Amino acid sequence: MIEIDLEACNGCGICVKDCPLGVIDLEDKKAVVGEGCVECLTCQKVCPPAAVLVREAPLAPGVVLCEACPVACRVPPRRTGACRRFVNEKGRLVRSRPLLGYDEVQGEVGPFPRPEIATPLITAIGAGGTYPDYVPAPHIVTHRRGEVDVVTAVTEAPLSYSGLKLKIDTDAHLGDEGAVVTFEGRPVGMVETEEYGSKIIALGGVNRLTGKYGVAAARAVAAAANREAIRLKVRGGPGLEVQVGRPPVIDGARMGRMRVGCGSATAGLFAPFLKRAADEVIVLDAHITSLFTHHAAGRCLGSEPSGIELTYPKSTPGRYFGRAGQGWGATDVERPLDVIAAVDRAKIPVGFRLLVTETTGQKAALFEFGADGIFGEIEPTPEVAEAVAAIAETCQMSRVSAVYVGGAGGSARAGVTRYPLRLTKAVHDRRAVLTVGGAPVFILPGGGITFYVDVEKVRVGAFTWVPTPATVCPLEYTMTREDYEAMGGHQEAMKPFTALKPKEWNR
Ligand code: SF4
Ligand code: SF4
Ligand code: SF4
Repeated sequence: MIEIDLEACNGCGICVKDCPLGVIDLEDKKAVVGEGCVECLTCQKVCPPAAVLVREAPLAPGVVLCEACPVACRVPPRRTGACRRFVNEKGRLVRSRPLLGYDEVQGEVGPFPRPEIATPLITAIGAGGTYPDYVPAPHIVTHRRGEVDVVTAVTEAPLSYSGLKLKIDTDAHLGDEGAVVTFEGRPVGMVETEEYGSKIIALGGVNRLTGKYGVAAARAVAAAANREAIRLKVRGGPGLEVQVGRPPVIDGARMGRMRVGCGSATAGLFAPFLKRAADEVIVLDAHITSLFTHHAAGRCLGSEPSGIELTYPKSTPGRYFGRAGQGWGATDVERPLDVIAAVDRAKIPVGFRLLVTETTGQKAALFEFGADGIFGEIEPTPEVAEAVAAIAETCQMSRVSAVYVGGAGGSARAGVTRYPLRLTKAVHDRRAVLTVGGAPVFILPGGGITFYVDVEKVRVGAFTWVPTPATVCPLEYTMTREDYEAMGGHQEAMKPFTALKPKEWNR
């Protein structure tokens, strides 16, 4: 049950703005919790003076505990939980919107390209370029596939609007988001937002390519896209040796495994192992550190909350927001017991066993509570070894991957058609298919033709650079001949696919 400490409440109204159900209000400049509160604790998280108190109480009649996420809303009759996804209908939680079939969403999804144009007739690797912009692409070929005449126009396009997103599978802290990344001492990128168990580094981009260090940026992008090993340095952070398809090397250390999930996911995934391994388990993680017996997974297996409290701020029961650092699980905890804020000696008997592990299982230690009131490290038991091995074996090997990002909505379109906007529209409508070296791309929605391509799907050496500076990317547009003609395609430059001479394949 939620109560407001009226002495502490300063009437700031932050909880009123952030309550997902709008059931908290201000009266006489004090917060008042109204009907429909589901005890999601959002108000407690955002309240600056900690005026929101939670009083443990059994579920009231008719209230249903939602177990669909760690928030564990207590949903009153005919009300929804904090996310509004589930509604309490006669003591049963049901989804607040019906399950949709594919037919019902097809309008939004749009058509897939017809199979005849899904792959190009030839690639642009080795095709040469289109310059000045109005000249036709170096190869525009046509061929009949099934009942359809297909056209592919190819060019190796210099793209100033280009860059690379390097995905580095590691828990290691590479630097704050926005930190500058250098190549040969020159700024060519930055640390981006983290994704799942990976750090993302953005290299290049038009502002760097057209800036003072553009040539260095273009070289770094082309080299990494061609799966060459390059050395980067995060300013104020580590040195990196990265090569697509290989494990990253960070400050000289080759990374082993990437996480299986956050500390909370690890508690859930390996709950039966962890329950067997120790009386309490802490999974240290810079994002979500978990405390097993307080966590939904532990409770689900019958664990009672132990008398251990952690130093990190609590998110939901058994889940804590970690802090990034160079310690265990990429937290700031260098010695695992330092994450413990308090031990309730009335609840922790002598001989109580505590396992602390990282989400990768790379580091783990078992402790036993002694008669002297402190935890001492002991040898791992077979159950601990089994649990840690289960975690580690589920973690994939760390590697570096990359997507090349290109803006093809510019001048290169003139090599295909006299009406570039028609090509853009055809690409977005999936009547024209863009590929890079034959590899499928993801087209970003909205204006222009901005695409992502997995560089490991593209032949090694296909990317180059020019001192404009720009990176050079092999682009293919494939469509039906009918659409090509309708968009004003260069018909005079079109030739039968079969007319290509072998030497033209080798340019
Ligand atoms: S956020 Fe806290 S202090 Fe501000 S109105 Fe709500 S309960 Fe009071
Ligand atoms: S616990 Fe959640 S639903 Fe209840 S008042 Fe606070 S924010 Fe609103
Ligand atoms: S999924 Fe359930 S517990 Fe989570 S916010 Fe929604 S209603 Fe609450």
